[in-house]
Amino acid sequence: MIIVLLGAPGAGKGTLAGALKDQLGVHHISTGDLIRLEIKGGTAIGLEIKRYVESGGLVPDEVVTRMIEGKVVTTANDGKGYMFDGFPRTSAQALDLDKILTKNKLAIDFALYMEASLDVVLPRLTGRRVCKKCGALYHLTNMPSKKAGICDACGGDLYQRADDNEETIKKRMTVYNESTKPIIDHYKAQGKLKTINADGGADKVKSELLKILSEVHEKRS
Ligand SMILES: [Zn+2]
Repeated sequence: MIIVLLGAPGAGKGTLAGALKDQLGVHHISTGDLIRLEIKGGTAIGLEIKRYVESGGLVPDEVVTRMIEGKVVTTANDGKGYMFDGFPRTSAQALDLDKILTKNKLAIDFALYMEASLDVVLPRLTGRRVCKKCGALYHLTNMPSKKAGICDACGGDLYQRADDNEETIKKRMTVYNESTKPIIDHYKAQGKLKTINADGGADKVKSELLKILSEVHEKRS
């Protein structure tokens, strides 16, 4: 199974990716994780990326695409499939991904778009709290610490990340929606777009996804 995950900040993409990865046994290709791994491993592409990161610049599309291609080439024959997370980010990258997969005799089964409304995402993100000492995550209403403002695990102080404020979140959502629109159109045109309403929370999203997976399986057999 080859899936592309698309979802705005706060839609719950990370939670779903974690569950999916185990359930389907696919390679989870997360751009952020891969970048960290390549840098840590000191690979040729890792060193190249490190230079961009250290100079405070963005890693160019072409480099990211090359990194993804490298990962696909080395795993294409193991039959596990993929879940792409954080890639493609532009319609050019969506075209590149199609090409990479075709070259390796593979194809995307579907792109999963987790649609979430601002009303739902805002409290999810503004309520997040992080431990200063150990990085543990909490949420004021969904997952509060036992003692307000104090980490259960290590007793450290909890704080709100600077970009988890209402204004920044609204901006991030607008940017995300604008940049994702062409990618959504790309998969829609291929008849491969599946949309899930992510407002209902993790359990509802998972059950909707299971329905989609069984439909896709049926179509294949
Ligand atoms: Zn802590």
